[in-house]
Amino acid sequence: MARLVMKFGGTSVADVERIRNVARHVKREVDAGHEVAVIVSAMSGKTNELVAWCREAAPLHDAREYDAVVASGEQVTAGLLAIVLEGMNVNARSWQGWQLPILTSNAHAAARILDVNGAELVKRFKERKEVAVISGFQGMHKETGRITTLGRGGSDTSAVAIAAAIRADRCDIYTDVDGVYTTDPRVVPKAHRLDKVAFEEMLELASLGAKVLQVRSVELGMVHNVRIFVRSSFDKPHDIDPHGTPPGTLICGEEEIVEQQVVTGIAFSKDEAQISIRRVQDKPGVAAAIFGPLAEASINVDMIVQNVSSDGATTDLTFTVPAADYERSVDVITKARGAIGYERLDGATDVAKVSVIGIGMRSHAGVAAQAFQALASRNINIRAITTSEIKFSVLIDAAYTELAVRTLHSLYGLDKA
Ligand code: ASP
Ligand code: MG
Repeated sequence: MARLVMKFGGTSVADVERIRNVARHVKREVDAGHEVAVIVSAMSGKTNELVAWCREAAPLHDAREYDAVVASGEQVTAGLLAIVLEGMNVNARSWQGWQLPILTSNAHAAARILDVNGAELVKRFKERKEVAVISGFQGMHKETGRITTLGRGGSDTSAVAIAAAIRADRCDIYTDVDGVYTTDPRVVPKAHRLDKVAFEEMLELASLGAKVLQVRSVELGMVHNVRIFVRSSFDKPHDIDPHGTPPGTLICGEEEIVEQQVVTGIAFSKDEAQISIRRVQDKPGVAAAIFGPLAEASINVDMIVQNVSSDGATTDLTFTVPAADYERSVDVITKARGAIGYERLDGATDVAKVSVIGIGMRSHAGVAAQAFQALASRNINIRAITTSEIKFSVLIDAAYTELAVRTLHSLYGLDKA
């Protein structure tokens, strides 16, 4: 017997028929003798609709009321799933975030989970063999008791937090893909599903655009050592052996990964923009004069490259920001021109960032050098490079994204046979 968390996203609960399918997945695990907590998202498209209604009501609205509105999507699916389970003779009860409670910070619309009380759930597992059906995405502010939400995609984080609170053996994330791939299979048909990914690698893959899990959920999994299993919700419930090993990707601690590859995966993002400040004064305080105002404007700067000055007086400085913040960034820099002192501002939004990730890089030298060589042989120019212990990223022209990703994918032996 095991204790499991099962999380189902919006497409898996898009209508009552699909909720019935989810219930069959749940029943399978219950029949196998497992204790189960289910976390559900809102029906697909529901949260977008609710967000749009808030905007329609008032373009600028109180985040506390936004949360009151958007949390409702998950309330509906939790109740519906409990009803359907009861109809299948499975003991089930729905729970809203405030009922457990799931306590959060007061950052409405982007709240962080502070504490989850799983005691009542565990008691009911024991006493009534009752399945807990919990609304994802929502919690309750610790002091005011008001409903909060965790940011878009937050149900993944709810699931991992609950798994930690009830000490689940595994947190299964049922989704519309059957696992985490070496890269996006739509770009590289030879991409293959990974059996296991270390938390640290998944953090990089998730934050770099492999949109499988909310980044925060992986952070939480890493801190509490919750084994997260990404698997398909489209597999037929009755085809799955609850005691077997279903296809999927396990996100776990490094120590669980026996056969370590040097490179695990390649992520890419076209939502990048590059800004180059030409002939900026080369003197103390200039970087602060540039990046201070950007930080104040809550603009996330990613890659930063500063040239070594040739004349000792001026230099060039290049950095990247999210494409959505490009115009705002140019505005911020232009306004700060007096304090910074530069000759010209160049920018480009048709750029992409390609990142190579693998904890094996820690113990292997020359991994990045191979990539530079391979990209050069394809005539792909590198605009900027950043490196860290387990990944490196290159900024290139967006038009070459697919070529670069394919080239690196085969370079590191990731193409499936
Ligand atoms: N329903 C919420 C959203 O769409 C939370 C989730 O599905 O994870 O962002
Ligand atoms: Mg999601």
